[in-house]
Amino acid sequence: MNINNIFQKIIKKKIPSEIVYQNKKITAFKDISPKAPIHILIVPNKFIKNLNYINKKNICILSEMLYTSIKIAKKKKIHKSGYRIIINCNKNGCQKIPYLHIHLIGGKKLNNF
Ligand code: AMP
Repeated sequence: MNINNIFQKIIKKKIPSEIVYQNKKITAFKDISPKAPIHILIVPNKFIKNLNYINKKNICILSEMLYTSIKIAKKKKIHKSGYRIIINCNKNGCQKIPYLHIHLIGGKKLNNF
């Protein structure tokens, strides 16, 4: 499958996924290869390739994505034990899917880095 539009297909429900939250601007779904008991990806419904494509016009989407991540952490009851939020960017940041996404990871003690 073409990885360039895999998240677009998930958002439009053209391929199966476990969507945990969706509104007009944001979709959140379970990572297919979870690194912890809770591993959810939060994406904008409108395509943005990565953090380098954030500008004055679309910056608000980042706070929407972050706020959604915090709400999901609370809903999953990992907010008190703690969690990590990651956004990978490009090659050195190990971004594999060229579609802006937040990783929300928790449910166990994570390694230091
Ligand atoms: P990144 O390395 O930051 O680009 O992360 C991409 C993430 O997308 C990885 O954690 C993958 O496990 C995840 N992923 C890839 N394909 C799917 C899929 N079809 N459904 C859910 N998560 C996926």
